[in-house]
Formats: sequence, C-alpha cells, structure tokens
Amino acid sequence: MARALSDAELSAGARLMSRLDAFATFTDEPGKLTRLFLSDAHRRAAAAFIGWCAEAGVKARIDAAGNVVARYEGKQAGAPALMLGSHIDTVRDAGRYDGNYGALAALAVVEQLADGGERLDHAVEIVAFGDEEGVRYRTTLTGSRALAGTYPKEALDQRDAAGVAMRDALRAFGGDPDKASSIRAENVAAFVEAHIEQGPVLEAENLPLGVVTAINGATRLEVGVEGMAGHAGATPMTLRRDALAAAADMALAIEKRARGEPDLVGTVGRLEVWPGAANVIPGVARFSIDVRAPSDSQRAAALAEMRASLDAIAKARGVSVTVAVTHEANAFVCDSRIVAGFKRTVEGLGFPPRLLPSGAGHDAMAMGQLCPAGMLFVRCKGGISHNPLESITREDCAFGLAALTRFVREFRLD
Ligand SMILES: [Zn+2]
Repeated sequence: MARALSDAELSAGARLMSRLDAFATFTDEPGKLTRLFLSDAHRRAAAAFIGWCAEAGVKARIDAAGNVVARYEGKQAGAPALMLGSHIDTVRDAGRYDGNYGALAALAVVEQLADGGERLDHAVEIVAFGDEEGVRYRTTLTGSRALAGTYPKEALDQRDAAGVAMRDALRAFGGDPDKASSIRAENVAAFVEAHIEQGPVLEAENLPLGVVTAINGATRLEVGVEGMAGHAGATPMTLRRDALAAAADMALAIEKRARGEPDLVGTVGRLEVWPGAANVIPGVARFSIDVRAPSDSQRAAALAEMRASLDAIAKARGVSVTVAVTHEANAFVCDSRIVAGFKRTVEGLGFPPRLLPSGAGHDAMAMGQLCPAGMLFVRCKGGISHNPLESITREDCAFGLAALTRFVREFRLD
C-alpha cells in the first residue's frame, strides 16, 4: 500500500504523525485534550507552531484575530497564494486530529518545499485558525471569517463562563480586537483544507481519502404538538389526542423521508413531553428537527415534504402542530477545479476518488466567501470525532499529506 508513496512522502507523513502527538500535549485540562480559543494551551500551541515554522525558515505570526499565519514565497515575491490550513482550537475532551491535522499538514507541506528550496509559481500561505469550534464563546469560525472579511464584530463583546470578554482575551493573546474585522486576506487564489472525515463513510468503503464536494446546508426546526392531557386509565384509546404518540409518528416520518435519498440526513435529537407522568396521557410534546443536505434545493424539497407529513399526521390524530425555524445555513459548494485537482491526486495515489459531502461545518465554508475553496477528507476510525477516541492510521496520515502536497505542487494559477 505504501508503495504509492515516495520515501520523502513517507517520512513527511511519519513526522506529521509525531507532531500531532506532540501537539496534543497543549491542553487546558491535564489528562485530556481541551484547547479553547485564546486559552493558555492555545497560546502554547501557537508558539510551538510558530517555532516549527521558524525551523523550516518560514516566519509565522499571530494575526489580529488570533490565527497563526505564515507565507512561503513562490518564484516571484508577491505572487498570489494558495492558502492551506485548518483550526487548532478543540472541543472539551477532544480528539487530537480534528482541525489539528489540517493545520499541521499545511505546515508539513511548506516544510517539504522549504527542505528542498523548492519554489512554485504561486506562494503558499498556511494558517492555523484560532476559533472554529465556538466552545469558549458562542460564535464559531471567527478565525476564518476574519481572513474572509466577514468577521462578526459583535463577537468581541461576548463573555466566556468566567466573565472574560473576547476582546480582552484576544488582546492578551497577541491579537488586536480593533483590527480583527479588517484583516481580510488579499491575493489569495484559493483555500484548501485537509480534515479528518468525522464520519464513517470512507472506513465503510475501505478508502483512506475522500474529496469533499460540498459542506451541507442545515435547517433546524422547533416543533410543538398540542393534544389533550387525560387520565391514562379512564380515557379509551379511541378518544385520545396523545401528543407524544403523534410526535413519535412525526419523528418516524422525518426518518423515513431522510432515508429516501442519498446524502440527505434528518434527525430528531430532542423530545420533551408534558406533563410527563406515567399515569397521564401526554398533552404537549416539543421536539427538534435537524435536516442537512449538500444542495439547498434538495434540503428545501425535503423540508416541504416533511412539513406536509407533520400536518397530515396532526390532522389524522386530532392534535395541532406548530413549526418554527431556529437555524438556517445554506450549503457551501466546493470549487469544481479544486475537486477535480484532489480527484487527480487521490487517483495518482492509486485510490478511487470518492466524492462526498461534509456533514459538519468547516473553516473552508467561511473561506469560500473570499476565494475558491475545497477540502480533502482523511478516514478516521469508526467515524468517531469530538471524542478522545478519535483515531487515524499512520498510513492514512501519510496518504492525506501526500495528496495535499501533490495538490499544492500541481496547483496552477489562472
Ligand atoms: Zn474541525
């Protein structure tokens, strides 16, 4: 299997794997990996990243929004850049690959170029975004949104659980809250992000790499069902208006519709029932629906049918139903030339190029507001992520880095 990789690619992959292990020691909570935005662990991780860049002869710095950024010039100084990167903040009790893989792989690409003094027609810029997960503060993607020129200024006024304003934490970290909203990156030809899949598709198909076609759009609904509470012993089955039984029927209808076509997913993840007693027929039920799809029209069509089936079930069961939209984000379609480029590099490594959408959000969708953007997925064990059990193999680590490096070398400016 490793035959497809050169010795240089194998050793770069091995170095990346040990870097990922070393990087995982930068944590705010001993014994587990928790690295929140602008925390002490984030500061130490950023310093290590900057130090590794310096060892490769590349000067890195912290930008106004708390990202680590560096530039490796091409043949001509000032050439447009291909930007690579991902995030180095984590959730609480995280795995070591989510985000970190793409940030350290970006560094590893530049190291390989710098090792051989190799200059390309384009510059290569690398970025370790500071805030993707949105754990310490509610906003997400402030790092990539800053570079894309869509920084949410109001985010600076948020306070964390300890009462520390993001503005103050950013200043202490070495950022500049007054400039965070005006650092829009310039002269960037494209952005690409390598990331673990965080899902089980590649493993199920025995493939190390996947080419991301789109980042799913999502709609979240809050559904209220109102029936009639009543005595569980005295009310005959034919005379009931059971809000929970209706909600259960509705959840099954959502599942059935989402199962009806590939790449569409629908989830009822929360259900509450009132009055919630063993001897009372439920009078009110409330539940969430989360629907995601790689295309907005596909999602809209599914939602329309789901809502129609909720109404039909309510009518048949004599209950009333209300539906409110609580969240809506459109799909991000990856740039077709980047998709084609990754397809070629994956094929060049001897694997069928599996195209798949991303069910999770990523920095690439924010960067897509600035320039063409795309992603490469690396298989992870069991599809498990946001969990210390997150795991990738040494081989897959090397394949992902080799695909990214080849993509960077083959990238052509218009
Ligand atoms: Zn991530």
